[in-house]
This record gives sequence, C-alpha cells and structure tokens, in this order.
Amino acid sequence: MSLTIAFIGLGNMGGGMAANLLKNGYAVRAFDLSEDALARAETAGAVRATSAAEAVTGADAVVTMLPTGKHVEGVYTGEVFGAAKAGALFLDCSTIDVTTARRVIEAAAAKGFDMVDAPVSGGIAAANGGTLTFMVGGTDAAFAKAKPILSAMGKAVIHAGGAGNGQAAKICNNMLLGATMIATCESFAMARKLGLDPQTFYDISSVSSGQSWSMTSYCPVPSVGPQSPSDNDYQGGFAVGLMLKDLKLATEAAASVNASVPMGNAAEALYQLLANQGKATRDFSIMIEMLEGS
Ligand code: NAD
Repeated sequence: MSLTIAFIGLGNMGGGMAANLLKNGYAVRAFDLSEDALARAETAGAVRATSAAEAVTGADAVVTMLPTGKHVEGVYTGEVFGAAKAGALFLDCSTIDVTTARRVIEAAAAKGFDMVDAPVSGGIAAANGGTLTFMVGGTDAAFAKAKPILSAMGKAVIHAGGAGNGQAAKICNNMLLGATMIATCESFAMARKLGLDPQTFYDISSVSSGQSWSMTSYCPVPSVGPQSPSDNDYQGGFAVGLMLKDLKLATEAAASVNASVPMGNAAEALYQLLANQGKATRDFSIMIEMLEGS
C-alpha cells in the first residue's frame, strides 16, 4: 500500500515537489492558503484538503514547503502536532532560520514525532524536474525514514547531522555563493574598465585560480560561458529577493554564534541595495550591472 503524504505549501517549489511524489506512487493530500496553488495540485492528482489539520489527519508523513520560520512554526504547533497520527514523520523543506528549525524539531520530539529539516538547493526547474539536492538535519532514524520520500523529489539527499544542520548547510552554502557572485561580478567589471575583453578574461580566469561556479556555470556576463540567466536579461534563475532572504538568515545565524562573516555582511548590504533599486525579482547575477554602474 502506498504511503499517504500531507503536503502543505504548494507554491513555486512545493507544487512541483508534490507532483513528483505523485509520479513516484505516493498519495498526496494537499493544503495551501492559495486557491490557485490548490487547484494546480489537484490537477496533478493530489486530493485537496480544507485545512492543514485535515490534510495531516491519517497521513504517514507531512511535507511542508512554506515561506519562513514563522509560517513553519505556526503550521506545526497550530495544526500538525494536534492532528497527526502516532508515528507520522515530519519533513520541513522550507528555508528557515536554524533556531526556529531546532525549536520545532525539539517540540515534535517532545510529542513523540520524528522530524527533519530538509532545505533544498536548486530552484523551480529542479523542483519540477525532481532534481533537487536535500540537506537534511535530524537523527539517524529520522533521516533513514525521510530519505526515500526526499529521493522521490531530488537527485541527492545528504545527511548534514543533527536537527537544524540542514538549514546550517543551506545558509553557509548560499552565503558563499552570494559572496563569490559579487567577487566574480566586480572582477569582470574592473577587467572591462582596464581594457580587457570579458571573453578573454573568462578564458583565462576560468582555468586559473579565480575560477568558481559563479564564473564557469553561471557567468554574469551575457554571451560569455554556458547559457545562464544573464543571456536572458537576468530573468528566471535565482531571484535577488531570495538571495537576500538567505543572506539575512546567514548573518542572523552568524550573530547568534558569534561567527565573523565580513563577506556575508557585505554581500547582504549589496543585495539589499539591488533590491532597493527595484531588482528583487531579477536573477542575482544582475549584480554586475550595479557594479558596472549601468
Ligand atoms: P511560494 O511563496 O511560491 O510558496 C509558498 C506557499 O506557501 C504559497 O503557495 C503560500 O500560499 C503557502 N502558504 C503560506 N502560509 C501557509 C499556511 N499557513 N498554510 C498553508 N500554506 C501556506 O514560495 P517558494 O518559492 O515555493 O519557496 C518556498 C520555500 O522554499 C521558501 O522557504 C524558499 O526560501 C525556499 N526555496 C525557494 C527556492 C526558489 O527558487 N523559489 C529555492 C530554494 C529554496
């Protein structure tokens, strides 16, 4: 008999993830505050619920893909804990702050439930294609139960350690990405001002010590390197607003453990400037336009 999964939060990411659970033989009971999101989930084959509690009742596992820690804590403490059957497994795939993730998992454990934090790397295309990477925090037993469910939605499922460590891995990775993208953009901008052709700089730096994923997989200069959002007027890809959200989570987490993150702080300030310029929905590699002064 196939497992029944309650899926709460069927937005840009959750919609595709739930569709992949269905494709892999899971029964899905969907709840979202948005009628559009619910209608899309129903078309994909999910059964619609009228509340989170109704979706969760009788389900073997609960997957949440919600905007922030406030939403996640509200849904679990407000509805999921009270309605879930004994032995149900909880998987929160949202990107949220480490402190809230640990608090919710601790509260679940106090009620006898296994829970993992399992944030993702990869955007909407990876959610739709079932090729996400999951970074998972939780006990060995919770991870073992979560892995087959997550594998139905992704290409890699990695155990990062105890509760909250998935979120820690996610924000440390994205802080590194935010900073390397800015460094890549400012280097291209300066190279051009010094009279160096961007393609020539790419040919040299991509095989030299300045190489990074931001340069060789996601080059911010149009027509240089493989196809990337810069070739599509910085549409699609990973939005400035989402990078800013992750950088805020990273710098808050850094402050909470007294970690020194000068590059992370600078990256947050620069992406905030971009967002203030009305570019929150454009791809984060549009940073190069601001640094080139255009
Ligand atoms: P989204 O806003 O498209 O979807 C969130 C959904 O949650 C919405 O449909 C909303 O109606 C629903 N929701 C909010 N509160 C709810 C509640 N109380 N009960 C039920 N439903 C509720 O956001 P998204 O882009 O799908 O992102 C979801 C999470 O994934 C975020 O934490 C984000 O940071 C993370 N993430 C997003 C991307 C991306 O590229 N979009 C990539 C990696 C991680």
